[in-house]
Amino acid sequence: MPVYKAPVEDVMFLLNDVFSIERHNNLPGFADATPDVVEAILTEGAKLCEEIFAPLNRSGDLEGCTRNPDGSVTTPKGFKEAYEAYAAGGWMGLSMPEEYGGQGLPSTLNTVMQEFVSSANLSLGMYPGLTQGAIAAFLVHGTEQQKKIYVPKMVEGAWTGTMNLTEPHCGTDLGLLKTKAVPNGDGSYAVSGTKIFISAGEHDMAENIVHLVLARIEGAPAGTKGISLFVVPKFLVNEDGSLGERNGVACGSLEHKMGIHGNATCVMNYDGAKGWLVGEENRGLNAMFVMMNEARLAVGVQGLSQSEVAYQNAVAYAKDRLQGRSLTGAKFPDKPADPIIVHPDVRRTLLSIRSFNEAARALLVWTALNSDIAHRSSDEAERQSADDHMGLMTPVVKGVLTDLGFENAVKAQQLFGGHGYIEEWGMSQFVRDARIAMIYEGANGIQAMDLVGRKLGKDGGRAIMGFFNEVGSFCQENAADDTLKGFVAPLQQGLGHLQQATMWFMQNAMAKPDNAGAGATDYMHLFGIVAMGYMWARMAKAAHAKKAQGNGVAERMDAKLLTGRFFMERMMPETGMRLARISSGADITMAMPVEAF
Ligand SMILES: Cc1cc2nc3c(=O)[nH]c(=O)nc-3n(C[C@H](O)[C@H](O)[C@H](O)COP(=O)(O)OP(=O)(O)OC[C@H]3O[C@@H](n4cnc5c(N)ncnc54)[C@H](O)[C@@H]3O)c2cc1C
Repeated sequence: MPVYKAPVEDVMFLLNDVFSIERHNNLPGFADATPDVVEAILTEGAKLCEEIFAPLNRSGDLEGCTRNPDGSVTTPKGFKEAYEAYAAGGWMGLSMPEEYGGQGLPSTLNTVMQEFVSSANLSLGMYPGLTQGAIAAFLVHGTEQQKKIYVPKMVEGAWTGTMNLTEPHCGTDLGLLKTKAVPNGDGSYAVSGTKIFISAGEHDMAENIVHLVLARIEGAPAGTKGISLFVVPKFLVNEDGSLGERNGVACGSLEHKMGIHGNATCVMNYDGAKGWLVGEENRGLNAMFVMMNEARLAVGVQGLSQSEVAYQNAVAYAKDRLQGRSLTGAKFPDKPADPIIVHPDVRRTLLSIRSFNEAARALLVWTALNSDIAHRSSDEAERQSADDHMGLMTPVVKGVLTDLGFENAVKAQQLFGGHGYIEEWGMSQFVRDARIAMIYEGANGIQAMDLVGRKLGKDGGRAIMGFFNEVGSFCQENAADDTLKGFVAPLQQGLGHLQQATMWFMQNAMAKPDNAGAGATDYMHLFGIVAMGYMWARMAKAAHAKKAQGNGVAERMDAKLLTGRFFMERMMPETGMRLARISSGADITMAMPVEAF
C-alpha cells in the first residue's frame, strides 16, 4: 500500500522563512493567518488527506466510476463520505469570501491544501477543485442573483461545479464550438449540444451539479467572438433556493481512460436544457478564462502532487530494497546486500525528483501569494505587478510542473524495477494519473505557445522585464555572499540564457512565427528551470538564516541546502541546452513535406 505524508514542515518553511507571509498582514484575511493558525489548519488538512483521502486512492483506481442505466453515476466506495468530510471541514470555503460562507483566508493556503489533496487522491480532489474554479467564475462574472443562488451552496459543498468547453470536433480550437443557445424569451436560454470529457459531469456526491457551459447564441458570429458562457444546473433552482425539476442535461456515457479512474469523465448531452448567461453575450471565453486560469494553476499543483507522492514511496522502497553493494564497499555488511539507496544512480534519481518538488512547491506558493496580492491589495501598482506575475507564470506552472510531474512519476517507478510495473505497488497509478495533467486545461504545447506568443509581448513585455529585474537584482545583491556561491552564479548564468532566448525570439520570430512555435516548449522549460533556480536561491538564503537561529533545525536545513545544490549543479545546466535548441530555429523542423512523414 503506497504511503503519503503531507509536507507541512516544508510549507511552513516557505510561508514563514522564505516568503514571510506576515509581511502581507495588511491584505484582507492575512491578519487572521498567523503562523500558529496556519500550522494548525494545515496539520488538520494533512490529517484529512493522509487518513481519509489517501486510503481510497488505490481502491478508487480499481473500482472506477459506474454509469447506471438511468444515467446516474456512482463514484467509488468511500468517495462520497470522504467528500462530505471535506465539505463539513469547511475546506471548500477556506479562502472564499466570508459573505458567501467562506473563511476568507489567503488563497495561498488553499493552493497548499490542493497539493495535499491531489497527492493523497487526485481523482477525488478534482470534484472540489472544479467547484472552486466555478465559484471563482461566478464571483467575477456572475450577476448578484447568480452569486446569491449558487455560490453559498457551492462554498458549503452541497453543490459541485463543472466546466464544459470540449466537444468531439473541438478541443484546443474553441472557435469550432457548435453547442447552441436559443433565447426562451424569459431571460433564459435553451442549450443544446454535446460536450465530451467533462470531469465530474455526473456523480453521487452532491445534491446538485452546476455546469458552466460554453455555447453559441443563435445568430452569433462564427469563431471565438461568438461564444457565450451559461450556467446550466442539473436541477433547476426554485425562487426560495430549493431544488426544482430536473434540467435537460444528462450524462450519456463515461470515458474509459488511462488514469484518474475515480473521477467521472462524462459525455454530457444538453437537450434544450435551461441555462442563463454568465457575463456578457459573446464574451464567454473571457468569463470562462477566470475558471481556466484557476484550473491551470490547480493542474500545475497536480503535477507536483504526483511527483511528491511518487518520491515518498520511492524513498521508502530505496531504503528497504537490498540489491548489490555500494561502489565504495559494503555499507550494511551485516545484511546480504546494501539497500539500493547507496547507489549513486539511485540517489541521482531521488535527488532529481526531490529538488524539483521543493522548488516547484516554492514556485506555487510564490505564485499563489501573488494571486492573493492581485485580488486583495488596495495598492494599484502592487496589484498590477502581481497580476503580471500571474499571467506569466500560469503557463509555466501548468506546463513545466505537469511535464516534470509525469517524468518524475516515471523516474520514481523506475526505482522499483519490475515491481514498479506491477499494479499492487501503486507506482503505476501515479504514472497513469500524472499523465492527464499534461493534456487537459490546454495541452502543454498550447501553454508554451501562450507563454511565447501572448505573454512575452503583452504590455510591451512589462511582465517578463519585471521577472528579469527581480531575479537580476537578487543575483546582484547576493553575489558577494559566500554562503550563496553555489546558487547565485548558476542562477545568473541561467538567467542570461533566458534573456538571450527572449531576445532571439524578438529578433527572429516576428517575421517568421514558426521560429516561435518550434522553440516554445524549450522556452517554457528554460523559463521553468530559471524560475525554480530562483526559488532555490531564495530558499538557500532563508535556510542559512534559519540555521543561524538554532532551534534544532540544522539537520533539516542542511538537507535543504544539499538538495538545492544538487538542483544548481545537475538541473540548471539544462538552460544552455534549451537555448541552443531555441536558437537553431524552425528550418529543420518545418523542412520535411507532410507526405514524407
Ligand atoms: C480525462 C480528461 C478530462 C477532461 N476534463 C475536461 C473538462 O472537465 N472540461 C472540458 O471542457 N474539457 C475537458 N477535457 C478536455 C481537454 O481539455 C482537451 O482534451 C484538451 O484541451 C485538448 O483538446 P483535444 O483533446 O481536442 O486535442 P486537440 O485540440 O485536437 O489537440 C491535439 C494535439 O495537437 C496540439 N495542437 C492543437 N492545436 C495546436 C496549435 N495551434 N499549435 C500547436 N499545437 C497544437 C495539441 O497540443 C495536442 O497535443 C478533459 C480531457 C480528458 C482526457
